[in-house]
Amino acid sequence: MPKFFGTNGVRGRLDLYTPEFASSLAAAFGTWIKGGKVCVARDTRTTGETIQHAVVSGLLSVGCEPILLGIVPSPTAEFVHHSMKTNGLIIITASHNPPDWAALKFVDAKGLPVSSERGVEIEEIMEKNAFKRAAWDQIKTERVYHFAVRDHVEAILKHVNAEKVRKRKLKLVVDTGNGTTIAAVQMLAEKLGCELNTLNSQMDGHFPGRNSEPTKENVAGLLSAVKTLGADLGVAFDGDGDRIIFVDENGEYVIGDKTFVLCEEIILRGKKGPVVTTVATTNAAREIAQKHGQKLVYTKVGAPYLSEKIREIKGVTGGEEVGAVIWPELSLGKDGLMTMAKVVEAVAEKPFSKLIDALPKYCNYKTKLEAGPERFSQVSKFAEKIRREGASVIDIDGVRVDYKDAWAIVRASGTENYVRIFAEAKTPEKAEALAKEFLKKFRET
Ligand code: MG
Repeated sequence: MPKFFGTNGVRGRLDLYTPEFASSLAAAFGTWIKGGKVCVARDTRTTGETIQHAVVSGLLSVGCEPILLGIVPSPTAEFVHHSMKTNGLIIITASHNPPDWAALKFVDAKGLPVSSERGVEIEEIMEKNAFKRAAWDQIKTERVYHFAVRDHVEAILKHVNAEKVRKRKLKLVVDTGNGTTIAAVQMLAEKLGCELNTLNSQMDGHFPGRNSEPTKENVAGLLSAVKTLGADLGVAFDGDGDRIIFVDENGEYVIGDKTFVLCEEIILRGKKGPVVTTVATTNAAREIAQKHGQKLVYTKVGAPYLSEKIREIKGVTGGEEVGAVIWPELSLGKDGLMTMAKVVEAVAEKPFSKLIDALPKYCNYKTKLEAGPERFSQVSKFAEKIRREGASVIDIDGVRVDYKDAWAIVRASGTENYVRIFAEAKTPEKAEALAKEFLKKFRET
C-alpha cells in the first residue's frame, strides 16, 4: 500500500506539504524517470510558488532540467509535455479540492499519470534515501517557457471548424472559478468568434468566487447568468481545467456523464476505435459505442487507469462521469479546454439542449455510507454474497451488476471514508429503488 500516493498523485493539506516533502518527492520522481527534461506547471493556489521552488530544487539536485510553464491549466501542461517529448511532468495542483490543499500530479515520458500502484516505486526511493543526486558539474539549469497556452490553443483549433463557428457569433458565459483557464478561454472565444461573458475570471488562490469543484450548487451564479444574458451555452471549469461542466441555453445544469457521451458521439462520427470509461459511467456510453459498432472497455475509477487503457488499446477517447474527456490526439490527460471547443463547435449546429436530448436517456441515483478502512473488505464480502445469489458481477472496481436497462455499483472510495452506491435506470423511481435495494443488501452483509 502506498503511504502518500492516492489515485492520481499526492494530495494533502499543508501540514503534509512542507517544502522539504515536496522537494524529496520531486527528487524521487526525477530519480525514477532517470533524469532528463521535466515540465513543471502549477495552478493558482497561494502555496504554488513555495512548492514550485522546492520541486525545482529537488529536480535539479538529481540532474533533471526543469522547464517552467508557469500558471497554466493541467491539460495545457500535459499537451506541452506531450508535444515537447519531455521525460516527465510535475503539475502542482490540488484540482478541485479546497484552497488549503496542495498536491503534485506526476506524468511519465509516455504521458501516463502516475497511479498509486506505480507511486509505490517513487516512495521507495524516498524511504531508502536512494536519490541519484547529481555531481556539482552535472547540475543543469531551469528554463522558462512562456507559450504553453498559445501552443495548446493552436493545437485545439486544428481540430475545430473555426470558420463555421465564427458565423454563428455564439454567446458564452464561462465561469473559470478563479482557476487557471481564463487565458486559454479568452483565446479560444476570440478565435471562434464568440461573445465571451466571464464569471470569477481573476486568478486567485483564495478562491473568493466559489468552491473549485463545478457542482450544480457551486455554479448557481452561472445558471442564472446564462438565463439573464440569453446565452447559447454556460461553461464552468474546476481549478486546474481538466474537468468541465455545461449549462444549456435554458439555464439547466447538465451532468458530466452526458458531456462525455456527447463527446463520444462526436468523436465516433469522425473515427473508429474502442472507447474507454470507468465502471461507474452511464450505460449511454455503451449504447453509443454499440451504435457505431465499437467496443466499450471498462477500467477502475481514476484518471491514470483511463489513460493507461487508452494507450494500451489505442482508444479514440475515454472519460468519466465527473465531466472529464480525454482527446488522445492532444494528450492522454483529461482536457476541459478541448472539450469546450468541440462542444461549442457542435452548438454552432444545434442548441445544446437538443444535442443532449438526442442521447440515450438514463436516470441515476447516488447515495453513500460512512465507512472506515474496513470498507474495502466489506465490499469484497458483498461481491461474494451477490455472486452466491447468482448475479454476474463486474468487479474491476467495487461490485457492478447489470440488468436489462439498469445497473448498480457499490464501491469503496479510494480517498474518502465512504462506500458509494450508484444506480442507473430508465426512470428516476427505478434508479432510486435499485440504489436503496443495494444499500440495504450491503448493510446486511
Ligand atoms: Mg481537476
